[in-house]
Amino acid sequence: MSINYDLHSHSTVSDGTLTPRELVERAQQKGVDVLALTDHDEVVGSLEAVAAAQEFGIELVAGVEVSVTWRKQTIHIVGLNIDPHSKELNLGLGRLQKYREWRGEEIGRKLEKAGVEGAYAGALALKQGDLLTRTHYGRFLHNSGVVGSMQEAFKKYLLPGKKGYVRGEWATIEEALSWINAAGGVAVVAHPARYNMSRTKLRSMLGEFIECGGVGLEVVSSAHNNNEVITMADHAQQLKLAASRGSDFHDPKNSWVELGRLQQIPKKCDPIWERF
Ligand code: AMP
Ligand code: MN
Ligand code: MN
Ligand code: MN
Repeated sequence: MSINYDLHSHSTVSDGTLTPRELVERAQQKGVDVLALTDHDEVVGSLEAVAAAQEFGIELVAGVEVSVTWRKQTIHIVGLNIDPHSKELNLGLGRLQKYREWRGEEIGRKLEKAGVEGAYAGALALKQGDLLTRTHYGRFLHNSGVVGSMQEAFKKYLLPGKKGYVRGEWATIEEALSWINAAGGVAVVAHPARYNMSRTKLRSMLGEFIECGGVGLEVVSSAHNNNEVITMADHAQQLKLAASRGSDFHDPKNSWVELGRLQQIPKKCDPIWERF
């Protein structure tokens, strides 16, 4: 039987709803052999997760999902097998965390102007770790009945162009890669089919990513349908990028995304875990 790798997941440290320990426990129950914790812009959860992985008998890969702005668009770059104590990485992420604090308040101000009261306080109250994300705003808008679902919260308020959207000013690809590489990790472009880029644009982005030392593409993701997996496997093969596999699990309530429940990476792909 093949080893079940799930190399993209979130805990309460960012916008997941399980603590790192609960996440590892669930991963073990769902048959994951190797889990990567990849919280947004923060690595502190990996310490608890490593201890939990020993307790539950699975392997834990320390990771991070770095927010990046490329040509005014937000993209996500996952760093895998990083040293969570790396000074360079933590310094870089610290800057993103500061920006995130300001941006979190700014989203609240914009929603207030759009007639949604108390959103900042409401989102803050739902935050379990240190990071305030759009997911917390989405949960607040849903829980308080402003919208009927998370999807609607994003569609009506939180996506680019909507009333609660604040344009990202995240890291450059070059910065994100320098932090990940300084921390001894390997960099992977997360859920590439989600960016709605033309083939040409995606190739430009991946070209810069490779030039900066990037080595992986998340070919298999819960965000991808079968055709997208095939397309991304082709890109990976042509560009000699290794393929990653990750659920992007956030919350057990989203029953359509589960830990470890993904197709295998296509046979022609070169697995990212051989680069750790
Ligand atoms: P942020 O980093 O604060 O901009 O928040 C981004 C997070 O919002 C992503 O990591 C997802 O967890 C979540 N998200 C983005 N788009 C959607 C969507 N359309 N529906 C639900 N959640 C979303
Ligand atoms: Mn998220
Ligand atoms: Mn992401
Ligand atoms: Mn993610």
